Amino acid sequence: MNFIVPLIITDQMKSSLFGMTTYETKSNQITIYLNKKRFKESLDYMIDDVIPHEYAHAIMFKFGEFSNKNAGHTLQWQKVCRSLEGLRCDRFVNHKDILIDKTKLFY
Ligand SMILES: [Zn+2]
Repeated sequence: MNFIVPLIITDQMKSSLFGMTTYETKSNQITIYLNKKRFKESLDYMIDDVIPHEYAHAIMFKFGEFSNKNAGHTLQWQKVCRSLEGLRCDRFVNHKDILIDKTKLFY
């Protein structure tokens, strides 16, 4: 499977979010954003936890799975997250980190 998704590191995200995955219907574009503000303090966490977590969301989008149930942390998402060797693929996270067709990205 050939799957390219842009991974953008930005300081425009609110501090409570480590990462976010977005999907735009019109362009069929999936993008992963990582919060630059959190990198310095939590580099290991970003690499071991957040990146697999967000890539799992991206793969769900890629396969046409846009369920917003449990903020996208479905059983299928969890399987993908674990197969990406994510350390914490918790389905019951208390954050919303997927966005579909929202103009206002991070707030
Ligand atoms: Zn998530």
